[in-house]
Amino acid sequence: MALIVQKYGGTSVANPERIKEVARRVARWQAQGHQVVVVVSAMSGETNRLLGLAKQISASPDPRELDVIAATGEQVTIGLLCIALHEMGRKARSYTGAQVRVLTDSAFTKARILAIDERNIRADLDSGNVVVVAGFQGVDEGGNITTLGRGGSDTTGVALAAALKADECQIYTDVDGVYTTDPRIVPEARRLNHVTFEEMLEMASLGSKVLQIRSVEFAGKYKVRLRVLSSFEEEGKEGPGTLITFEDDIKMEQPIISGIAFNRDEAKLTVLGVPDRPGIAYQILGPIAEANIDVDMIVQNVGHDGTTDFSFTVPRGEFQRALTILNDQIKPHIGAREAVGDNRICKVSVVGVGMRSHVGIASRMFRTLAEEGINIQMISTSEIKISVVLDEKYLELAVRVLHKAFELDEIRA
Ligand code: ASP
Ligand code: MG
Repeated sequence: MALIVQKYGGTSVANPERIKEVARRVARWQAQGHQVVVVVSAMSGETNRLLGLAKQISASPDPRELDVIAATGEQVTIGLLCIALHEMGRKARSYTGAQVRVLTDSAFTKARILAIDERNIRADLDSGNVVVVAGFQGVDEGGNITTLGRGGSDTTGVALAAALKADECQIYTDVDGVYTTDPRIVPEARRLNHVTFEEMLEMASLGSKVLQIRSVEFAGKYKVRLRVLSSFEEEGKEGPGTLITFEDDIKMEQPIISGIAFNRDEAKLTVLGVPDRPGIAYQILGPIAEANIDVDMIVQNVGHDGTTDFSFTVPRGEFQRALTILNDQIKPHIGAREAVGDNRICKVSVVGVGMRSHVGIASRMFRTLAEEGINIQMISTSEIKISVVLDEKYLELAVRVLHKAFELDEIRA
């Protein structure tokens, strides 16, 4: 008998029919003798609808009240799922985040979990219940309702699995696992049987939207076995999904490259003719950070004639704001020649822990792009990924040729 936490996302509980389907799946696990804790999201589109209501009243609603509103989405689905389980003759009890006592800090709309009181859940499980918990929400010391940031139900699932020392945390979604890249761009993309936490973190932060980044960090830290599965597969035809695990567990079949990630949501800014002297990077990026704009890649050229060029990328939605800061504040202050920007770029990355022990990955990537005549504008690397910034029009082509060059479409034993 195992203790399993299952999390079902918005599309999996989109309507009463889908909720009944989830109930049947949960009941099958329980009938096999497992203890099951279920975490659910709001019905798909519901969180957006709820937050939209507030936006119709105020352009800058109080975050505390936004959380009061947003948390209701999940409260509906936990009740509905319990009723569906009751109809099937199963014992089930629902809990909001506050009822469990998922204790968080008070950072409304992006709270962090501090502690979970799992005693009620355990008692209910021991008396034969399925326990259904509202994802995405908690409560702070003062009793205020909080939410964990968009996509936060994944984190609730993982945190509960950690607190309960569950055997596995299963994240049910509308895809049957983590893919080598987005199958909408590369039809030959394959589901990965395994991926390491580090790779999953890179892929999530580089644009793959399968899991909330924070949930992956949490699972890595607390050593929760995490599996991504589809809730749309028929009984008897369920696949194994993708297991997210530690490098040591999969050494034998570890490929060099696990996936190609990409992100369209970036823009590039360049300051030309920057005086080459100490403190310049700080004088450029300081005001950008003060404006609360996230900087991703940074490149500074070798100086010549006493000046240099300095480029960095920001989220595309912050492009205009960043450009205005460069032109109005930074350029005159440091005496740079010109500030220019380009918001039609993309970032494409190859990710794989095998890079640590293999040479030639970067050159293979650059050769592949060169053969297609694709110009690389910026490059950055970490131990397990290489990212390049390209003109947005090359995104699909670059992802496709890299997927092929790294043999990701070949079936592995
Ligand atoms: N319902 C919340 C959202 O849409 C949380 C979640 O689904 O994970 O962000
Ligand atoms: Mg989600």
